[in-house]
Amino acid sequence: MAKRDYYEILEVAKSASQEEIKKAYRKKAIQYHPDKNPGNKEAEEKFKEAAEAYEVLSNEEKRKRYDQFGHAGVGNGASEGWGGGGMSMDDIFAQFGDIFGGHFSGFGRWSSGGFSQKTVNRGSDLRVKVKLTLKEIATGIEKKIKVKKYVACKHCKGTGADGENAFTTCSACKGSGHITRVSNTILGQMQTTSVCQNCGGDGKIITKKCPECNGEGIVKDDDVITINIPSGVAEGMQLSLSGKGNAARRGGINGDLLVVIEEEPHPELIRDENDLIYNLLLSFPVAAIGGQVEVPTLDGKAKIKIEPGTQPGKILRLRNKGLPSVNRYGTGDLLVNISVYIPKELTKEQKKVLEEMDASSNFQPSKEVKDNLFNYYRNLNS
Ligand SMILES: [Zn+2]
Ligand SMILES: [Zn+2]
Repeated sequence: MAKRDYYEILEVAKSASQEEIKKAYRKKAIQYHPDKNPGNKEAEEKFKEAAEAYEVLSNEEKRKRYDQFGHAGVGNGASEGWGGGGMSMDDIFAQFGDIFGGHFSGFGRWSSGGFSQKTVNRGSDLRVKVKLTLKEIATGIEKKIKVKKYVACKHCKGTGADGENAFTTCSACKGSGHITRVSNTILGQMQTTSVCQNCGGDGKIITKKCPECNGEGIVKDDDVITINIPSGVAEGMQLSLSGKGNAARRGGINGDLLVVIEEEPHPELIRDENDLIYNLLLSFPVAAIGGQVEVPTLDGKAKIKIEPGTQPGKILRLRNKGLPSVNRYGTGDLLVNISVYIPKELTKEQKKVLEEMDASSNFQPSKEVKDNLFNYYRNLNS
């Protein structure tokens, strides 16, 4: 749908004065006012369209830009204007209250279907932290957690009233939950409908409050909630359990339970996204002679073979020994970073043996070895 010209919408000339524009808008606003056209979608759209046109043309700065660049000049370049969703009826009444003579304050809520008579209570969200070990993260786990939260009062079944007969019909709205008021405004006689302040839209008043919850319909209680945590989650991730949060006052819908994941550090393994890192410190002789060593994994120990002449800085990769991706796209690896432990103090005999070794050319790195090491690190960092 192409956007209509603002002057055309208000049916004024391009040279119209501010007074003429204001007058024209009032006329349109009365014609298409939702209370005069209940349930009429087209009238509602025209009402919004007129408000948008007035919003621009009543502002000299915006009007100038509109005259020069059209809709694009006032940020309404898309084929759908804010009448298509950006500006609500509430916004229009709030913004142009002066035009309507200020009689529309306290106006009810508008939904896409028109006037909604009652806003539904919603309980607040509840946030809990769940601490998991890497092992639990690797497999996924069912956790039962105890939370203190608002639940519907059992005594009054959440109504807040002490028994079935502890209600009386609201005298202000006669049970309808809303009040229709006819008032004389600058626009002429207008009918407005708003949520009844006396009963909050319930249509009934509690005559005897439930003693257990003091009429609130909710009480604090302990609850045990079972949470299925998928594998691969990470620190800071948040799971949302719909409807498991606090109950709402006097009926309504429950809030959500937000579960924030906390990761317990592993004593030996470090997490890097889905990979795990283990720093293996080899003794100097094992690095030289080779052998078999054990490394920790999330499900026990793994034996790995150390080749003779293993250099510090070498990384061994144990495939699929990391963590599964939370999106189910594969599993990470366990990376074994090799370091070599050099003792700080030596006995006389050890020192002598080492000095003899050092005298052998076999213990001096060749140019080729140096180049290989250089290239290895260069490739790691590229
Ligand atoms: Zn109660
Ligand atoms: Zn009422």
